[in-house]
Amino acid sequence: MPELPDVEVFRRYMNATALSKKIIKTQVFETDLLEDVSAAQLARRMTNSQFNQTKRHGKYLFARVSGGDWLILHFGMTGFLEYFKHTNGTPEHARMLLHFKNGFALAYICQRKLGKIGWTGDISEYLKIHDLGPDAFSDELDEENFKDLIHGNRGTIKSRLMNQSIIAGLGNIYTDEILFQAGVHPETSLDALKDEDQFGLFYQMKRILDLAIEKKVDPEMFPVDTLLPNREEGHQCPKCGGKIKKIKVGGRSAFFCEKHQKPPA
Ligand SMILES: [Zn+2]
Repeated sequence: MPELPDVEVFRRYMNATALSKKIIKTQVFETDLLEDVSAAQLARRMTNSQFNQTKRHGKYLFARVSGGDWLILHFGMTGFLEYFKHTNGTPEHARMLLHFKNGFALAYICQRKLGKIGWTGDISEYLKIHDLGPDAFSDELDEENFKDLIHGNRGTIKSRLMNQSIIAGLGNIYTDEILFQAGVHPETSLDALKDEDQFGLFYQMKRILDLAIEKKVDPEMFPVDTLLPNREEGHQCPKCGGKIKKIKVGGRSAFFCEKHQKPPA
């Protein structure tokens, strides 16, 4: 499932390919994915326009058209973007196609149809309506804010980090990676977190997101001491030689090392 680093990579890809190119045709093939906008409205607003800016908040990508409003893309479980020469045919599972004057097109591809395509004139209003917390990678989320946000006496740290209304952008995979790097067990309750755990989580969150973006979310490019390429039950922990285990936390699977991520007392 695309998480913050994946969506940041999509954003940079979009900047490198589709920015400042005149859109000559907009096609929506799956209107079920549209949120608060119709296919006809999208076509009217985007055709003959061009994207001049992109932003990302959590797992949402925003692309501004020359009229000033923003196209919103959320990638669900399986979504991604592909820029291609249109004479080569349309990619499978393309749900929206934007054709550019240069003969190329940008496809929004989403096999499992759990993504969303929306429209807004005001990003901060959109974030408020959708109850999204601060972006995990943004400088606005500093150590003090982070500690406040994960402070509490109910619930586990894994569920708190994945709650998009608390912090936006972390999903199952990167939450596990951050906990693994910080040596914190996923089931640790919030009130049992020590000061050094809170700092470790904050530091590792920023470091891992930065690393994942830099490596274009390719696990094979990750350093050997990361969980991501070892995310399988029974694998050897690349940090301490312990065993990787899988449990359910808040209904989601969590992978962790049973040796260096000590269970809560
Ligand atoms: Zn370990």
